[in-house]
Amino acid sequence: MAPDSYPSGNYVRPSFLSIGSVWFWVILALILLLAGGVYYYFYIYPSTGLLHTYHHMLMGTDVRLEFQCPSYQKAQQIKEQVFAEMEELERIFSSRLEESELARVNGRAGQAPVKVKPELLQVVEQALYGSELTGGAFDPTVAPLLECWGFLDGQYNVPSPAELREALELVDYRLVKLDLEQETIFLEREGMALDLGGIAKGYIIDRALDILAENGIKHGFINAGGDIGILGGKPDGTPWRIGVRHPRDAEELVAVLNLSSGAVVTSGDYQRFFERGGQRYHHIIDPESGQPARQLISVTVTAPTAMQADMLSTAIFVLGPERGLKLVESLSGVEVFMVTPDQQTIASKGMKEIME
Ligand code: AMP
Ligand code: MG
Repeated sequence: MAPDSYPSGNYVRPSFLSIGSVWFWVILALILLLAGGVYYYFYIYPSTGLLHTYHHMLMGTDVRLEFQCPSYQKAQQIKEQVFAEMEELERIFSSRLEESELARVNGRAGQAPVKVKPELLQVVEQALYGSELTGGAFDPTVAPLLECWGFLDGQYNVPSPAELREALELVDYRLVKLDLEQETIFLEREGMALDLGGIAKGYIIDRALDILAENGIKHGFINAGGDIGILGGKPDGTPWRIGVRHPRDAEELVAVLNLSSGAVVTSGDYQRFFERGGQRYHHIIDPESGQPARQLISVTVTAPTAMQADMLSTAIFVLGPERGLKLVESLSGVEVFMVTPDQQTIASKGMKEIME
């Protein structure tokens, strides 16, 4: 006989998995949770994933690398590969390291062509192309001028007219002979030297983005001291917002740009300079006069590659606003934002469209 507490009649005691059972709902909830987790892991996570951010000191600056990757371990591997490649390239282009490829070329100036790595050949070829394009405003043979102003060793000095004349004799991109077949570079005059400070960082950023792309990364960002390369927009589809530093106040921005691809590079008279007698002498030299260029104090260029943007920002700094704007208008996919010494800003048409 049933115990008194059991109701009589046709009452059926709920079984473990019937709808009325608490267990039914608990198990259903667990199944749904599991299915949701599996769906998220295999379908949603790989396309949105995590943004990984890494920092590394390179090229005298804090390089920030950011990219989206579904696996933490894979992201670590990619990061190692990117930074190792950047370090390797920095060693090739360095004008400070005595054993760099560049130093070998400079050491044989006026004597003999030097066989070099393809990377150096490629950057020097592009630098010379930049020189042609800008009528010599960009000139990778400015090293003797940088030297007499003290920008190579930090022993700053205002050179005498005689010193400047002597250095100017050695500055001429047309005296660089490239042999693409023999893979050699020859500086025709003794005392000449190449300096790739105005272009190599851009090339290195481009190679780093290539490595991200080769690893299947769709959304990435590299910031090397304000020089930026972009791979795809942000994972959520919106553009990256890039601040342009105010040339006279490191805490302030003069512009914010929205960009989903390409590169942004800024050249400024605040990046390396010294002051004498109330005058600022900075590191971007007009190869014609031998003096620091004075028509602008900051130039930001957007271009399809960081190497182009890097070369052009330095060149436009020398060319000044009128010739700079004209040059940009003749190039496709290139825009410019400039700040004059009296802190007026000038932007090309396409630049205005991406400015906030
Ligand atoms: P950036 O910061 O890209 O404008 O590069 C500036 C660096 O480019 C300087 O520190 C020099 O190493 C180098 N440079 C200076 N003047 C020139 C020039 N007229 N053409 C090419 N490179 C230059
Ligand atoms: Mg540059």
